[in-house]
Amino acid sequence: MITVKNLKKSFGDLEVLKDINAEIKAQEVVCVIGPSGSGKSTFLRCINKLEDITGGQVIVNGTDITDPKTNINKIREDVGMVFQQFNLFPHKTVLENVTLAPLKVKSTNKEEARDKALKLLAKVGLQDKSNAYPSQLSGGQKQRVAIARALAMDPKIMLFDEPTSALDPEMVGEVLEVMKDLAREGMTMVVVTHEMGFAREVGDRVLFMDGGYIVEENIPSELFGNTQHERTKSFLSKVL
Ligand code: ATP
Ligand code: MG
Repeated sequence: MITVKNLKKSFGDLEVLKDINAEIKAQEVVCVIGPSGSGKSTFLRCINKLEDITGGQVIVNGTDITDPKTNINKIREDVGMVFQQFNLFPHKTVLENVTLAPLKVKSTNKEEARDKALKLLAKVGLQDKSNAYPSQLSGGQKQRVAIARALAMDPKIMLFDEPTSALDPEMVGEVLEVMKDLAREGMTMVVVTHEMGFAREVGDRVLFMDGGYIVEENIPSELFGNTQHERTKSFLSKVL
């Protein structure tokens, strides 16, 4: 579903991604872990071309997004993204936040978009908040709205960049639960996370990044239980 070949990304003289190779299959949940500054967010942002790619190839759903002829907006319709900082529109209600993109981008009519948004809000446990504004919600609730908003476009792939890192500890669980449900339903997911418990329990595969490379990748039981590389061991000893 996603193929990354020899991906390189520099910001000026700073080489952030040096040679990333990865294959993410349909319905797979791949968790990306690694120290701060190792390039995790940059990697994720390259998958829907939020960053200009310096070298290599990223193929999403059979389309090479590095090809200048590719309509990236069409690709992005299939790739939902959830960030650490929710990025909800503050002057729009929860319902408006969720219906905005389908109304704008897809030829969905208002009623259809509303029905679907209410279903998605129910799915993330927020059916009673549809008329609230983001400022009236807790962090965990905001993040669940952000997930519902991404799902409203019927994405084939969901990218999560540390979706729980900005949350108070008591709200982490409710967001992880929503993500677990999505994984169970077979959503293809790439999740950058500091939640090792989630990576271990929900991830089909874990990638450990350091210094712009994927240093080690494996199924969670092996990556955590039979760690191969010194750098991975040293990172895990600090976070576990
Ligand atoms: P964290 O765990 O702290 O989120 P990360 O693994 O996601 O870290 P990135 O955000 O991908 O790391 O950043 C990798 C490197 O690229 C860092 O040195 C960062 O300063 C640099 N970087 C990221 N975005 C830019 C940018 N727009 N311009 C210049 N440098 C950038
Ligand atoms: Mg990051």
